[in-house]
Amino acid sequence: MQQNELKTPYFMIDEDKLIANLEIAKQLKEISGVKLVLALKCFSTWGVFDIIKPYLDGTTSSGPFEVKLGYETFGGETHAYSVGYSEDDVREVADICDKMIFNSQSQLAAYRHIVEGKVSLGVRLNPGVSYAGQDLANPARQFSRLGVQADHITPELFDSINGVMFHMNCENKDAEAFIRLLDSISTQFGQYLDKLDWVSLGGGVFFTWPGYDVEKLGLALKAFSAKHGVQLYLEPGEAIITKTTDLVVTVVDIVENVKKTAIVDSATEAHRLDTLIYNEPASILEADEDGAHQYVIGSCSCLAGDQFCETSFDKPLTIGQRLHIADSAGYTMVKLNWFNGLRMPSVYCQRSSGEIQKLNEFDYADFKRSLSQWSVK
Ligand SMILES: *Cc1c(COP(=O)(O)O)cnc(C)c1O
Repeated sequence: MQQNELKTPYFMIDEDKLIANLEIAKQLKEISGVKLVLALKCFSTWGVFDIIKPYLDGTTSSGPFEVKLGYETFGGETHAYSVGYSEDDVREVADICDKMIFNSQSQLAAYRHIVEGKVSLGVRLNPGVSYAGQDLANPARQFSRLGVQADHITPELFDSINGVMFHMNCENKDAEAFIRLLDSISTQFGQYLDKLDWVSLGGGVFFTWPGYDVEKLGLALKAFSAKHGVQLYLEPGEAIITKTTDLVVTVVDIVENVKKTAIVDSATEAHRLDTLIYNEPASILEADEDGAHQYVIGSCSCLAGDQFCETSFDKPLTIGQRLHIADSAGYTMVKLNWFNGLRMPSVYCQRSSGEIQKLNEFDYADFKRSLSQWSVK
């Protein structure tokens, strides 16, 4: 398969780039002794898990199907966390997870009897401090429902659980800033942590960002782990798959209304939802900031404000031309939807050998089935 023969839109995951991130993860593990579990809510394209498995220790989840997927397709340690479990959820995952992390003391009390003896038990604590660029993604935001607040902790809690999870970062590219959070956790909760076997520090630590001081992070984690006598975990999502994947699209039309808009055969609302939710413009590989030809890269959905970005090119765009929307793996493939009945992007992996392998493709039948399987009689 040659790239230019593939029908757009499609995702192309680059194995070499994935391995480059994973090598940094390996380095972090070696320095710190931390274990790493992949956050499936960020990236669940299990077709490439054989590439990731040798580097990470397992998976963590945010809902019951992710637990099952991690268990079936990744293996290693399977951590099960959910903001709100139903009893059915708990029963479904109890036999396939190693650790079960409850979001509240009430959920722990309600379901402890079902899982005790089967899994290592944990609770999520909210440290009240965080690092996040946007309030929507800030776990320590006002009135947050995520984790037990410090002043609600019943001290006896720690005599009957094995570990705790904190998650308070979002795309934190600053090792110093993370270490300040770590120190705050040690001060606030240290006496409790000393009683536990494990502590997970969640995700959002962007240790694969260019220039990130991996050694500084690693040594701080190692010291924390020794101080409190716990096995540490991180739950990276974005850090593992960042900059590994392009969403490849074709320009299908160019329209003009004061500005020129190149309309492509994809939409943020359907295929790259976080562009819209977080109002963070995408970047296009072919663009040239200093180019003389400026375009809005517009989607083919009917949502008026649906655009990927506004950028410049050194030559005018032409209909039929392909564009690569960079860094399109995290929180994208897991959020694909059928809005407007658009064609769903296929998913490919470019192996280190150069070979392109197909991981997924969709057709009209998938669209139809997602809406109803049976009609009223
Ligand atoms: C979202 C999330 C992660 C992964 O976050 P990234 O920013 O993708 O690293 C890990 N743990 C928990 C509890 C999360 O909610």
